[in-house]
Amino acid sequence: MDESVRGEAAPPSAPGEAEHPALALANSALALPGGHTTDLLGTPAQAERWLTRRGLAPDGAGLTEVCAVRLRSLREQIRSLLVSRVTGRPALPAAVTAVNDAMTRVPTAPLLVWDETTGPRRVAPHPTTALVEHALAVIAADAADLLTSPDAGRLTACASPPCNRFLLKHGRRQWCSTRCGDRARAARAYARRTATD
Ligand SMILES: [Zn+2]
Repeated sequence: MDESVRGEAAPPSAPGEAEHPALALANSALALPGGHTTDLLGTPAQAERWLTRRGLAPDGAGLTEVCAVRLRSLREQIRSLLVSRVTGRPALPAAVTAVNDAMTRVPTAPLLVWDETTGPRRVAPHPTTALVEHALAVIAADAADLLTSPDAGRLTACASPPCNRFLLKHGRRQWCSTRCGDRARAARAYARRTATD
């Protein structure tokens, strides 16, 4: 992870991220100009801030690296589904399964545990685990909604390399941010200049 770009790291949210946490998750590992990358879920503390900002976790939830890994793993599966949707190619079955698993694995009840010496009792899931599984379920359900709703037709990948973000198109705009739009226009102008020289 390159930390040198932290100052100007993440551009403002891409269109559609506010309505779709799945889109925001997909966009949380950024490829930036100059070969830099930044991961908004790079550490458990960053992952917790990311969830808190979206109302998906309370302050001081105490996320661990295991939780952050689960978020990053769902992100890769959702990114794979978005790529399939945008390119019109079939989805990887593993990505579909991962989204369905996250959606249905929400702990709803304390489980029955039957110990040989102490007998039966009910055990609540670990609060942080329950919280992360709830967040994963909300994001996974949103991914399923995003892929099947009318919004899916507006889903596109940012057309300004090396940007790897997705967005919901409004009109003809095909960039995730003005920064990406400016860079794409500058690249086109440069290509025109060098072609005529
Ligand atoms: Zn972009």
